[in-house]
Amino acid sequence: MFNSLSDRLTATFKNLRGKGRLSEADIDATVREIRRALLDADVAVSVVRAFTASVKERALGLEVSQALNPGQQIVKIVNEELVGILGGETRRIRLAKNPPTVIMLAGLQGAGKTTLAGKLATWLKGQGHSPLLVACDLQRPNAVRQLQVNGERAGVPVFAPHPGVSSEFESATGDPVAVARQGVAEARTRLHDVVIVDTAGRLGVDAELMQQAADIRAAIDPDEVLFVIDAMIGQDAVTTALAFSEGVDFTGVVLTKLDGDARGGAALSVASVTGKPVMFASTGEGLKDFELFHPDRMASRILD
Ligand code: GDP
Repeated sequence: MFNSLSDRLTATFKNLRGKGRLSEADIDATVREIRRALLDADVAVSVVRAFTASVKERALGLEVSQALNPGQQIVKIVNEELVGILGGETRRIRLAKNPPTVIMLAGLQGAGKTTLAGKLATWLKGQGHSPLLVACDLQRPNAVRQLQVNGERAGVPVFAPHPGVSSEFESATGDPVAVARQGVAEARTRLHDVVIVDTAGRLGVDAELMQQAADIRAAIDPDEVLFVIDAMIGQDAVTTALAFSEGVDFTGVVLTKLDGDARGGAALSVASVTGKPVMFASTGEGLKDFELFHPDRMASRILD
C-alpha cells in the first residue's frame, strides 16, 4: 500500500533538492504534484483540496532555516500534515475503569469485522486480557458460526445467540440488541475484562442496519466503537465513513486488507473526513496479521 504514492512524492521532492530558496512558482508546482499523487492514490477530492491548501499555506510562510533546506522543510510539512490526518499520536484502546472494557465493531459486510474480532481477541489475550466475543451479526446466516471458528482459533469463548450452535454460553434470543446486552452481562459475571461485540453489516449503508447498530451502541455504552473499513474500497470510503460516523459515532478506525493492492487513499480520506484516528491495521487473513497503527510510522513510510 502507498507504494506508488510514496514513489510519486519522493520524485516530486527530489526536484526541490539543491534549491536555495523556493519561489511561489516552485511551491505551486510542488503542491500540484502532491495533489495529483494523492488523487491517483484514491484520496477523496475534498481531502486532497484541504490537504494541499494547508501545505501551500505553510510552505509560503516558511522562514529561511539554518538546519533544513527548503525541500526538506516541505517534506517536513507534508509529513506533519499526514500524521495529523491519520490521527496524530498512536491511539491505544481506552480501557474502562470498571471492567469489562466494551469494544463494538461496525462496518459494511465483508469489511473484515468477524476476522478482526478474532485478531483483536488474540492480540488482547497476548497482552494478558481475558476477552469474550459476542456474536450480534444475526443477519448473515454463517456469521455466528464464523465468529465461533475464529474464537476457537484464538482460544477465546464466544457468547452466541443460537441454541444448538456449539458455544460455551447459550441464550435464547435472536434479537441482536438483547444479545449484546446479555453478552456484556455475561462477561461481567464470568470476569472477562474485555468484551468484543461483532455486529451485522450490509453490502451498502442502509437505515435499518444503522439503526440496529445505534441501538446496540445505546444498549451497551461501549468504551470504543471501531469502524472497520476495507482499504480497497477507494472513493466510496468517504460516504461510508460519514454514514457510520453519523449513525454510530465511532471512536476509531480499523483499516483492513492492507495486504492487498489498495492505493491507500481510503486510509487518508476516512481519517480526514471523520476526524477519527486510525487505530489498527489488518494485513491478512491470519489471526496475527494485525497491528497497532502508528500515524508517524505510516507517514514516514509514505515519504521514505
Ligand atoms: P465481515 O462481513 O465484516 O465480518 O467480514 P469478514 O471478517 O467475514 O471478512 C470478509 C473476507 O475478507 C473474509 O474472506 C476474510 O478472510 C477476508 N479478510 C478480512 N480481513 C482481511 C485482511 O486484512 N486481508 C485479507 N487479504 N483478507 C481479509
